[in-house]
Amino acid sequence: MNGMQRRKELVSWLEEAGTLSTSEIAARFEVSKMTVHRDLDILEERQRIRRIFGGAMALESTTNAWTEGEPPEQKEAGESEKCLICYRPATQHLLYGITMENGERKLACCPHCGVSAHLMFKEQIRIAITADYLTGKPHSAQHSHFLLGSAAAPCCHPSILTFENLEMAQRFQTGFGGQLGRLGDALRFLEEEMILHREGESCPHCAAARKKNS
Ligand SMILES: [Zn+2]
Ligand SMILES: [Zn+2]
Repeated sequence: MNGMQRRKELVSWLEEAGTLSTSEIAARFEVSKMTVHRDLDILEERQRIRRIFGGAMALESTTNAWTEGEPPEQKEAGESEKCLICYRPATQHLLYGITMENGERKLACCPHCGVSAHLMFKEQIRIAITADYLTGKPHSAQHSHFLLGSAAAPCCHPSILTFENLEMAQRFQTGFGGQLGRLGDALRFLEEEMILHREGESCPHCAAARKKNS
């Protein structure tokens, strides 16, 4: 199979799967990860796919990417999915989607719980997608701009919001304060918060969910 055929097949496979990891792609086509990265670069340049942390995502199926792979009974009318950390229902413009190393997909209610999941599962997380707080558009958490501890706290405390566009994040920060950073900064921010306030107590929802489950 030549490169052109491989990329064509990769796009249709991605459209079916929603998201794929670099290793999955490399294994299927029996090529190196370097080759996969080059293919993804080419395809992204041509706007056929979107690159995300650890792999790629189909453009058309960006909305399905959140829930794909979940059992159908969880998607029934009106019942939204529950956050893997605090069990609150997940809402679209705050969603944080995670694909585990074993292919299992999970949802967090907001980037706060998404970052908590990174702290909890670490390398077991293969792909992380977050929604832009203003547009709801899913994009790679790796490339997102995280606003930490701003006054806008629509979900869990301390507030962590994600923005695809740095300028929009800065404008939002002008109004609501907080510090801007990347995923790594968000991990450190939340880790420090957890040490300061002890497990989960900083977020009333998380603390309540934990009490209920213990
Ligand atoms: Zn949550
Ligand atoms: Zn939340």
